[in-house]
Amino acid sequence: MTSIGFIGLGNMGGPMALNLVKAGHEVKVFDLVESAMSQLVEAGASRAESPRQATEGVDVVISMLPAGQHVRKLYLGDKEDGEGGLLATLDASVLVIDASTIAPDDARLVARHAAERGITFMDAPVSGGVGGARAGTLSFIVGGEADGYARAVPLLEVMGKNLFHAGPAGSGQVAKICNNMLLGILMSGTAEALALGVKNGLDPAVLSEVMKQSSGGNWALNVYNPWPGVMESAPASNDYQGGFLVDLMAKDLGLAWEMALGSKSAVPMGSQARNLFAQHAAQGAGRLDFSSIQRFYRCGEAD
Ligand code: NAD
Repeated sequence: MTSIGFIGLGNMGGPMALNLVKAGHEVKVFDLVESAMSQLVEAGASRAESPRQATEGVDVVISMLPAGQHVRKLYLGDKEDGEGGLLATLDASVLVIDASTIAPDDARLVARHAAERGITFMDAPVSGGVGGARAGTLSFIVGGEADGYARAVPLLEVMGKNLFHAGPAGSGQVAKICNNMLLGILMSGTAEALALGVKNGLDPAVLSEVMKQSSGGNWALNVYNPWPGVMESAPASNDYQGGFLVDLMAKDLGLAWEMALGSKSAVPMGSQARNLFAQHAAQGAGRLDFSSIQRFYRCGEAD
């Protein structure tokens, strides 16, 4: 049994922490939103009043926060100098695993401050969505030292199925951002194809089945169909509630764009997807699941 402080219990962090509790680990939880902790506490986790309280005396800290600014503030403090943050309060023996999707440079910055204190910090963003978080079948894409990876594996195996050590600090984020740029492109392409077929008389369920079994098959069609009613378990069939927010996909496509600028890479498809999701968010869809990009192609139609 490992003693874990888990910070950030949203769509992903909640079910991830729950799997750790169910596996018999001692989990202390903290989220800014009080209600996010209730289910975990009912399942056997202990509620903390602050990140500090959640991580006092633990072996491992896991965070699952929205974006880089939250991670920097948590670990490095308001001034981001490392003095007023959580790192300054942790014992050097603690392993820190941040599973949020953030800029590789942010992950490297926190890892550097952690290393100065002798603390091992791993970036471990995930793929697999809320369904994967609930089922414990996430992919973890990990950046950091090999010994930190080896220490993280037993816990990551509780929450995930496919584990990858991508390389040194920040590498997990680089791989994750490439993946999510591709996901943004695939989801918008899938929504575009479905809208085109339906406008030309096809049943979206029939068209989805055809494309799934054909060369257009992809993850969005297999497990996350964006057309309402085609796949009962998908956020599209639940009015695009829960899942992976448009705001977060727009953030990840922005991270891809920054990475492309920094490395002088051409990302015309990623840029197109970024504009689509940014426009969708600007029209008020930021808190919907990202598959709601389908609505963008169905303006003026009822679902
Ligand atoms: P979310 O918005 O549902 O949850 C984030 C949680 O963090 C919220 O409950 C919020 O209250 C909490 N929080 C914010 N700041 C905090 C702080 N300082 N201290 C404690 N709690 C704080 O987001 P999510 O969908 O769970 O995503 C989390 C991360 O995982 C993001 O980086 C996202 O890009 C990534 N991700 C999400 C998915 C997905 O399908 N939702 C998939 C892969 C990766």
